[in-house]
Amino acid sequence: MVTGASRGIGRAIALKLADDGFAVVVNYAGSAERAASVVTDIEAAGGRALAVQADISDAAAVERLFATALEAFGRLDVVVNNAGIMTMAHIKSDELDVLDQTLAINLRGSWLVMARAGEVLTRGGRIIALSSSVLAKSFPGYGAYIASKAGVEGLVKVLANELRGREITVNAVAPGPVATELFFEGKSDDTVQRIADMAPLERLGQPEEIAATVAFLTGPDGGWINAQILRANGGFA
Ligand code: NDP
Repeated sequence: MVTGASRGIGRAIALKLADDGFAVVVNYAGSAERAASVVTDIEAAGGRALAVQADISDAAAVERLFATALEAFGRLDVVVNNAGIMTMAHIKSDELDVLDQTLAINLRGSWLVMARAGEVLTRGGRIIALSSSVLAKSFPGYGAYIASKAGVEGLVKVLANELRGREITVNAVAPGPVATELFFEGKSDDTVQRIADMAPLERLGQPEEIAATVAFLTGPDGGWINAQILRANGGFA
C-alpha cells in the first residue's frame, strides 16, 4: 500500500514497488483519474494494482482503505505512508488553520496509517513514512510542516519499539527538495534554483530517486535497517 500515490513521489514509489513484484494499493485523496492512470501503467507492465480513495486524516476512511486492500489482495506486506501536504505560513496567531490542517493530514494521518499497518501487517513486514530533510533547515514559513514531520519521525521510532518481536521494520525516508507539484507550488524559478543549489549535488531530486530509496528498505537488502530516518537529499543537510 502506498498512500498519496496518484502523483509525485507516491506515484514513483507505486510504480517501483510494482516493478519489484508487489501488488500495489494506490491510495489517493481527490485525483481519481491520476490514480487510475497509475493503475493502468502498472497493469500495462504486467503488474497488479488497485486504486482506493481515502483521506488519511479520516479514521473511518483509513479503516475502509485497509479493509479494501486486505479484501483485494489477502494480506499486506508493506505500507508506505507518503501522502502529505505543505502549506507555507509564518508562526502567527491568525495562521492556526494551517497548523491544524497540516497536522491533521501529515501527523494524524501518519498515526492512523501506521497504527493500522502495525495491527495488520504480516510477520517480516515493512512500514515506511515520509518525513523531510527540511527539518535541518528551519526556514521561515515551514513551521507547521516541520512540526508535522518532526512528529512523524518520533512516531516511527516509537512504533519500531512497539512492534518488537514481529520482525516488522519501521523507518522514515526524509527527502531533500524533489521535483513535484508540492515543491514547485508558489515558488519562482529563482527560488527553485536557489534551493536546488543548496545541495552539494546542485540539483533537485527526482521522484524515482526517492522510490529507489524506499525500495531498498522494502527489499531483502534493507532488512536490518530499523527505527531509522534515511535522509535522501543529495547532501541538503
Ligand atoms: P504531491 O503534492 O506531488 O502529492 C501528494 C500526494 O498525496 C497526492 O497523491 C495526493 O492525492 C496525496 N494526498 C494529499 N492529501 C491527502 C490526504 N489527506 N489523504 C490521502 N492522500 C492525500 O507531493 P510529493 O509527492 O512532493 O510529496 C510526497 C511526500 O513526500 C509528502 O509526505 C511530502 O511531505 C514528502 N516530501 C516531499 C518533498 C518534495 O520536495 N517534493 C521533500 C520532502 C518530503 P491527490 O492527488 O488525490 O490530491
